[in-house]
Amino acid sequence: MIKIENLHKSYPVGKDFLHVLKGLNLTIKEGEFISIMGASGSGKSTLLNILGLLDEHDRGKYSLNQEEIKELNEKKAAILRNKFLGFIFQSFNLISYKTALENVALPLYYKGIKKKERQQLALEYLEKVGLKDWATHLPNELSGGQKQRVAIARALVTKPKVILADEPTGALDSTTTESVMDILKGIHAEGMTIVVITHEEDIAKQTDRLVRLKDGIIVSDELMHNKTKS
Ligand code: ADP
Ligand code: MG
Repeated sequence: MIKIENLHKSYPVGKDFLHVLKGLNLTIKEGEFISIMGASGSGKSTLLNILGLLDEHDRGKYSLNQEEIKELNEKKAAILRNKFLGFIFQSFNLISYKTALENVALPLYYKGIKKKERQQLALEYLEKVGLKDWATHLPNELSGGQKQRVAIARALVTKPKVILADEPTGALDSTTTESVMDILKGIHAEGMTIVVITHEEDIAKQTDRLVRLKDGIIVSDELMHNKTKS
C-alpha cells in the first residue's frame, strides 16, 4: 500500500537547510495498523505529511497504491488524497460554523456527490462513531472526544484506503482516548490500513507494529506481539 525507499526531506532555514528525514525505508501493507513514535521534532509529522501528499520529499522514492509519487501538482495531489487517504489531526480541524453532519458531508461535496446522498452517507458514518443524535450540533457544542469522532467519521466517509492520524488522542483525556482507539481498532478490524503517530506507549501497544523515529532515522521497527487486546 505504502512504500518508501531512502526518503529524505530538508526544510530551508535562512540560508541553510534543516535535514529532517535522513533516508527512511518503510513498507506498509494493506490492512496494517502501525504506530510511529519519536521525540518531538524527530520528523513524525513531516513523514506523515509526505505520506499524505500534503508535502513533497526531496530525495528517494515514495509509492502509494503501487503508483510512484513524483512531481505531483496540487490538483493531482488533491485527487489522489480524495481517492485514497483520510486524515485525523490532534486539533480535529473541524469547521466551526458547520454542524457535525455538514463537517462529515464536506469531503463528499468535493467528490461531486449529490446533496441527498451526501447527507445520507454522513449520517451513516456519524452513526458508526456513535454520534447520530449529535448530527445538528456545532463543534463547540461537542466534547473533545466527540469532536475527534466527528473527524474520524469525516475521514472515513469517502471510503479511503489508508487513514493517517497525527497524534489523534494528543488532546484527549484517558477515557475519550480509549473511545477513539476503540473506533480505530474497529475500522482496522474491517480491513483499513491505519498509520498513527503517537507520544504514548499505551497507544502504540494497541497497534500491530511500532516504528520508532529518532533524529530523522528509523531506529526500530517491530511487530507488537504483546498487543493489548480489548
Ligand atoms: P515531530 O512531528 O516529530 O514533532 P516535525 O516533523 O513536525 O516533528 O518537525 C521536524 C523538524 O522539522 C523540527 O525541527 C521542526 O521544527 C522542523 N520543521 C517542521 N516543519 C517545518 C517547516 N515547514 N519549515 C521549517 N522547519 C520545519
Ligand atoms: Mg508532530
